[in-house]
Amino acid sequence: MLECGMAALTFARISRGLSLVGRLGLDWLIPPQCLACRGEVAAASGLCVACWSRLAFIEAPFCERLAIPFPYDQGEGAVSAAALADPPSWDRARAALLFDDAAQGLAHALKYGDRHEAGLLMARLMLRAGTDILRSTDGVIPVPLHRFRLWRRRYNQSAILARRISKDAGRAFCPGLLRRSRATRSQTGLNHDERRRNVSNAFIVPEDSHPLVAGKSFVLIDDVRTTGATLQACTRALKEAGAARVDVLTFALVHKPKQLHI
Ligand SMILES: [Zn+2]
Repeated sequence: MLECGMAALTFARISRGLSLVGRLGLDWLIPPQCLACRGEVAAASGLCVACWSRLAFIEAPFCERLAIPFPYDQGEGAVSAAALADPPSWDRARAALLFDDAAQGLAHALKYGDRHEAGLLMARLMLRAGTDILRSTDGVIPVPLHRFRLWRRRYNQSAILARRISKDAGRAFCPGLLRRSRATRSQTGLNHDERRRNVSNAFIVPEDSHPLVAGKSFVLIDDVRTTGATLQACTRALKEAGAARVDVLTFALVHKPKQLHI
């Protein structure tokens, strides 16, 4: 029995050694790249020191409704003048980072670069930013892609993030509760009003899902919040189906309204 145990231990050590040699060999052939800038890094699935140091984390104090950082603490649940002047349809918002080149590099690695390991890092940062809203939610819903775009892109980056976040937060993953009712053109290059019109009534809760939505609270997940038009349209669809509360959690938040080239 002991011999069998020793043999297993030796085998495990050899396997680990071979796996390390294999990994080192692969790293020598294809050096691991930074997820954001593609510079060389020591280990795969990470960011280089320069990109890490450039990430602009959103830390308290911030606006409860829009997640915009405040210059000084205004007390728990404080709401910005922007949210009071034009209240969003959702209840609370959280975002991990302010949108900048480093955040864009990471978001694009997942969205256009097929680098799903970027999603793991993004989801970890989002989980940290959304801890309080995830604690009180009944389910996590990704912003859906229209089936034609899903077919072309092969995956929905918001669904990748939402699946991971729901798993790690121990909350239900509910992608089927919200659908795109029509295809919309990309929001890239559109101004605030054009974005709002583009996604107006573009989302529905299927009739047979209304009983699953009524009276429940949800966290909507997207990679980047620019003007918030898409998340507003999603929230409206869920609230029309009877949702009691809808909060939004994004990886990055575009704080300067003119930054619409996303
Ligand atoms: Zn980098």
